[in-house]
Amino acid sequence: MDILLFGPPGAGKGTQAKLLTEELRAPQIATGDMMRAERQSGSELGKKFDEYMSAGKLVPDDLVIELIRKRLSQDDAKGGAIFDGFPRTVPQAEALDALLASMGRQIDRVIALDVPLSAIVERVVGRRVCLDCGQTYHVSYNPPPSDGVCVSCKGKNIVQRKDDTEEVVSTRFEQYEAMTQPVLAHYQARGIVKVIDGVGELEAVTARLREALGR
Ligand code: AMP
Repeated sequence: MDILLFGPPGAGKGTQAKLLTEELRAPQIATGDMMRAERQSGSELGKKFDEYMSAGKLVPDDLVIELIRKRLSQDDAKGGAIFDGFPRTVPQAEALDALLASMGRQIDRVIALDVPLSAIVERVVGRRVCLDCGQTYHVSYNPPPSDGVCVSCKGKNIVQRKDDTEEVVSTRFEQYEAMTQPVLAHYQARGIVKVIDGVGELEAVTARLREALGR
């Protein structure tokens, strides 16, 4: 099954995707996480990603599509995937459709997490993330352990992302509205979109998500 989690920055896509991986027996494919890993490796490609990411701008489509093409050829993604933060533009959605079609697959369901702008800034600015495993925390709602040790991987790399500041978030949100919002219409035309309320306790949102997936 191929699922796409859709929503603005800070909507909770990554958190929910991680919770679904076991149940759906499909990996989370999060282009943001993949790009951060590449950036951390210090590679030339990582430096290129950083130019855009630090400014809150979208990375050019050709680079993103190549990243996805390689990721989908890995064994764990052969039976389906949970896409998180991709596709973010209509050309990316078209490229994904073509890639999946070449594997006899298609996006089966798009779940859009509806979160008002007023809630987004607080969520994003308070977010902390483990650089080693991607586990997220929030300074008020789910604070990182006081000893700085990640609950998931026991690493000691919990940080605030460079692009989770108030200034960069506003650019990210503008990019979302201009470039990413139209992706929803692309899938709505196929009748596979379900919009769920993304506000509330983590477990409540997960329950809505499972219901939307018919589980
Ligand atoms: P995220 O972790 O999903 O919030 O993504 C962080 C940043 O990575 C974004 O602000 C973009 O700069 C870049 N990025 C992640 N995914 C994509 C994508 N599908 N297309 C373009 N840029 C992306």
